[in-house]
Amino acid sequence: MEVKAVEFVRKAHEALHNPRLQEALRRTEAKFVQGRREALRHLEDPDAVRRHATAIRDTVLRQLDAWLIHFERQAQARGATVHWAEDGREVARILTDIARRHGVRKAVKSKSMVSEEVGLNAALEAAGVQVVETDLGEYILQLAEEPPSHIVAPVLHKTRDEIADLFARHHGRPRKTDTAALTREAREFLRPHFLSADMGISGANFLVAETGSVLIVTNEGNGRLATTLPRVHVAITGIEKVVPTLEDAATLLRLLPRSATGQDITNYVSLLTGTKQAGDADGPEHFHIILLDNGRSRLLGSELEPILRCIRCGACMNHCPVYQSVGGHAYGWVYPGPMGSILTPLLAGLERATPLPNASTLCGRCAEVCPVNIPLADLLRELRHVQQVRGLRPRLETLSLRLWRALVLRPRLYHAVMGMAAWLLTRLAGARGRLCRLPGAAGWFAHRDLPAPAGETFLAAWARRRGKP
Ligand code: SF4
Repeated sequence: MEVKAVEFVRKAHEALHNPRLQEALRRTEAKFVQGRREALRHLEDPDAVRRHATAIRDTVLRQLDAWLIHFERQAQARGATVHWAEDGREVARILTDIARRHGVRKAVKSKSMVSEEVGLNAALEAAGVQVVETDLGEYILQLAEEPPSHIVAPVLHKTRDEIADLFARHHGRPRKTDTAALTREAREFLRPHFLSADMGISGANFLVAETGSVLIVTNEGNGRLATTLPRVHVAITGIEKVVPTLEDAATLLRLLPRSATGQDITNYVSLLTGTKQAGDADGPEHFHIILLDNGRSRLLGSELEPILRCIRCGACMNHCPVYQSVGGHAYGWVYPGPMGSILTPLLAGLERATPLPNASTLCGRCAEVCPVNIPLADLLRELRHVQQVRGLRPRLETLSLRLWRALVLRPRLYHAVMGMAAWLLTRLAGARGRLCRLPGAAGWFAHRDLPAPAGETFLAAWARRRGKP
């Protein structure tokens, strides 16, 4: 998927003026925010579970190489082949090579964000392999030729009427608007693909080191069909997804669906372990697992490492006032919302995503709801700092920040300037007590006003109350 994160501001403006999208985002907020709150209440001590989950993720990241090698050995012992890919090009090369060796003509895919990250469909199609998305949301997007707008609910930006039109156009059947009928129709079109595909492609929610298993959570049966029916299965995932034990995976599973969709557990939790053995009713004859780095290992040991704890639940975006206002497409890549504003610059390059670290109010809601306690606002602040150091911000902004720094480092000057500003702003606000415009801040005032200061600074008022000059 092409990185278009530099277009954030333009796309955000468009999104704000799109009434259909705004309606869809309002629905999302109500559904996911309330759902998460309710579902977490079912846990006896949610914060203790979150602390435990955080510790599991940190344990893995501290010794990621060792856990990955442990995973590889266990997976190999059960008949799987593990491949290591430095970047998207290597994933494409490995996958097309597997497809060629096994004579694959058609691949069915279960949802995988990493495959979006590396633009896998295009690479496979260039190699003559037909790719069919089988997650209902992803299938709709494939027909519409659009990217996902949410990591859990990729098609939340579309209305049922739009989907009805899309199906009628592509399926050549009478238009229906009933959700159950639309789902049934998609199922009827997808079933033959499962039966005729030579290869199934999936992502992985977790890689379990102790058993060499790939763990996948889904709400549709497509994940199981895609991973068990075709004779070749390829799971593609980032290296950070490994967890030490099944017990650890179970702890994370107590949080993932609750944080994502407000469910206590998803409809399907699949553990894929090795190849089909004699006596097995189903399963792939050839099982390949591709572990993608794509810049992740660079983050290990850095200030930004905590983002690798992410379990892709989407709670941060569901609770983010910026995501709630502009939706996922504005972020211009696979990962939207607060986690995307950190991951996109880190994986795709800070220069290619300059607006994203600033696409946040730093209100902290994202960090508050993150099941693995990622300090998202702190990481965004760190990225803003790196952008300043590397000269990636507008000169005026950099100059203003330098002036501000010079001011706050000189307390006497700071108090004098702030005292003058408080006096001046109070007068400019007049009897209304609110400011509606200021020179150079037209954008800020376009959608809000500012209460006037109290006429003097806090420090001046404090000194007066204590009787000091
Ligand atoms: S950053 Fe936290 S809240 Fe956001 S998707 Fe990742 S785990 Fe979920």
